[in-house]
Amino acid sequence: MAKQEIFLKDYTVPEYLIETVDLTFEFKDNEKTSVKAEYKVKKNPESKAENTFILKADELELAEVRVNDNILTNKEYSFDGKVFKLENAPEEFTFQAITLIDPANNSHLMGVYRSNGMFCSQCESEGFRRITIHPDRPDVLSEFTTTIIADKKAYPMLLSNGNKVEEKDLEDGKHLVKWHDPHKKPCYLFAIVAGDLDYIADTFTTMSGKQVNLKVFTDKANIHKAGFAMNSLKLSMKWDEEAFGREYDLEDFMIVAVDAFNFGAMENKGLNIFNSSAVLSTPETSRDDQLEYIQAVVGHEYFHNWSGNRVTCRDWFQLSLKEGFTVFRDSEFSKDMTQGVRKRIDDVKVLKAFQFAEDSSPMSHPVQPQSYQEIDNFYTLTVYEKGCEVVRMYKTLLGEENFRKGSDLYFKTFDGKAATIQDFRWAMEQAGGVDLSQFHRWYIQEGTPTLKVDEHYNEETKTLTLSFKQVIKEGQEPFFIPVKYGLVDKNGNDINTGSDMLIVKDLDQSFEFYDLDEKPVLSVLREFSAPVKIDFNQTDEEIQFLAENDNDLYNRYEAIQRVFTKQIEQAIEDLRQGYEVAVFKDVMDVFTKTLTDESIDLAVLASYLRLPLKQTLEEIIQPVDPILMHKALEEVKNIIAYELHDLFVALLRKHYEPSKTYEFTGEEINRRAVALTCLDYVFTANQENATEIVQELFERANNMTHESAAFKLLLKSDNQVVRERSSKAFFNKWIDDNIVIDSWFTSVTASEKMCNAETFNQLQENEAFNIKQPNKVRAIVGGFTQNPNFHTAEGYKAIADLTIKMDEINPHMASALARKLMSYKKYDSKYADLMLENLKYINKHVKSAGVKEVLEKTLNS
Ligand SMILES: [Zn+2]
Repeated sequence: MAKQEIFLKDYTVPEYLIETVDLTFEFKDNEKTSVKAEYKVKKNPESKAENTFILKADELELAEVRVNDNILTNKEYSFDGKVFKLENAPEEFTFQAITLIDPANNSHLMGVYRSNGMFCSQCESEGFRRITIHPDRPDVLSEFTTTIIADKKAYPMLLSNGNKVEEKDLEDGKHLVKWHDPHKKPCYLFAIVAGDLDYIADTFTTMSGKQVNLKVFTDKANIHKAGFAMNSLKLSMKWDEEAFGREYDLEDFMIVAVDAFNFGAMENKGLNIFNSSAVLSTPETSRDDQLEYIQAVVGHEYFHNWSGNRVTCRDWFQLSLKEGFTVFRDSEFSKDMTQGVRKRIDDVKVLKAFQFAEDSSPMSHPVQPQSYQEIDNFYTLTVYEKGCEVVRMYKTLLGEENFRKGSDLYFKTFDGKAATIQDFRWAMEQAGGVDLSQFHRWYIQEGTPTLKVDEHYNEETKTLTLSFKQVIKEGQEPFFIPVKYGLVDKNGNDINTGSDMLIVKDLDQSFEFYDLDEKPVLSVLREFSAPVKIDFNQTDEEIQFLAENDNDLYNRYEAIQRVFTKQIEQAIEDLRQGYEVAVFKDVMDVFTKTLTDESIDLAVLASYLRLPLKQTLEEIIQPVDPILMHKALEEVKNIIAYELHDLFVALLRKHYEPSKTYEFTGEEINRRAVALTCLDYVFTANQENATEIVQELFERANNMTHESAAFKLLLKSDNQVVRERSSKAFFNKWIDDNIVIDSWFTSVTASEKMCNAETFNQLQENEAFNIKQPNKVRAIVGGFTQNPNFHTAEGYKAIADLTIKMDEINPHMASALARKLMSYKKYDSKYADLMLENLKYINKHVKSAGVKEVLEKTLNS
């Protein structure tokens, strides 16, 4: 049975407010943990409801309840394991509860659980009710005090939110540590950690001269891998002061790395808990993209201190208020650190490949969902990444200065409050002096709108007319779309039209440009200024012209992708007809120009040389035949690699310096990316000669970026001995590194030549695999679903079986797995039928509400 659906329109204020929360945890090794909670409760003056005090619970034992120190008998309240109700509650009272929880057997990884010998917690979104009974809603904000008692030898580190206010030794080798957080916060930001951890320490002086103690905690074996995260934290703190005027507000800031974690990281006030894969790193163990990811996640969680913690969400429908804005903030941070213009290309790539796919799937929902059964299912690309795009549009519309004014006003007005998406818009409207009510549709209308573009040039009047038509879902109203653009003359220069942006807000809208001596080439939606699909029948010549000349670095990439996409479409058709694949001349020309144009910014060069992602193509070329698409991509790549071999070699030579000392700078990262992209083509064209250099890079690399790239190429070798030897070598070298071994799992399961459904199932018995660690499950599933062997009856069944298994262990992960088959309708029927069969099979065997919600929406769509 699916859970009851919850609607945004039904929101009511909480009946009771909780001023203070006092918690006492006593951790013991082989017993359940007792949690004492004491609340100062007050009727909410804004609530018109009856005096019923309602608390939530999940998988806990309720041992005792008191009101104003009097123990209640179970006749005085009702409790069904999920909901606790106290009717006719006083206007103001002290509430106490003692609950027993079982962290050792908590494999959901929500609430308090054990991971690798330590106790840790995850409360967002509804994990606090797995610790104690509580309203567990984000608009109940309280001041928290947390006391932790545990054996001092086994758990020397006892951490919680805020500032440490007491520390003492107790009898029997126990100790007690007390924390107090002066900032009111919702319970989803509560955190607790107890363990035998090591840490590195540093300090940061804020803009007003306060010193903050910074600590990064890890298990003892990994302490040498904490430095990069610490440095990222300091960079984040500085950046947020400069870019957004935000200063840190506690004496301590702590990060703790945890192996078993459902998410990337969690922004608990003053005590961020991180998936170890988002903290632990050195250049020898993490690739450039992983280091950039870690820097971004450290930034993201830190930035939440203001966008999420100081100003929090009224209810979970406002999730994008904190996430969309914070993703935007971390994206600007990454751009300023190492990524530069490449950041835009990378962000849009993810959006088009994965968020657009979500928009066209049965789980499609607006940035602000209007209803849900299980909020856990809405921590999605739409809420995060599309939410970020919407915030970016605010900035595009308002301009840098007014956007900053708007964000300052937002923080100032809603500090210490639980806010809404409308509150954010209000601040932006105030700052920009504009009415953005139509713009709000980006939050409440689902799906990716298409913008149909037409142009007409009148030679006599020398006038260009651009017409835009919004193609939107039935029942939707037109979006407010900022369209950045350029008119490019035949020399590749932008014509001055007095503006660089058009606002399209009607279903049909036209714009005219006068005094143009010849027809310019339209470069439309520059910088990807709105999350829309463009339908524009531009000529092949014009697209190629933009691919070679557009001044907007993002749109030049976009034009290159359009040229390549047409090519892949044709190659699929060739293969379907049984013909040999032929590569168009314009594709060769674009590659040749890209490989030889020395004026191209190094930051974007590697992106310009890569063929489109499968996932992006799957959104464009439908119905999808995944095997033909895979073959088409391979064949086109082979031909390009072979024909342009010498140019790839030349560019490789220019940038390839494997023995150089590793540096984490934008320039060096870009150079490595270009070199490794070229090496991939060179290896593709001529394995025989290139194997030696790849082998040498694999054995002698001084950083993981090189080692991992070489490893992946060796897994593509036609020589089985080379493949297996490399796989074994990498595995044996890294068997003790829990994070690097995840890359081994991903690389092997993604490899067509190394892994099929049978191997995939066997890998789950591997000594290094642990089904209770989400990272391991993500690693094999992330790899295998890229592998063409996934698209077989056995492949789909393997994912279905794993989903059913995960449903018992960790419903959050199971729900993510069930989505792997959810978009079956876009596939050719011979794949779609098999996927559907497996979805029904999963549906027969799962119980958790999250998975049921996904399946229900999929099977009823
Ligand atoms: Zn976040």
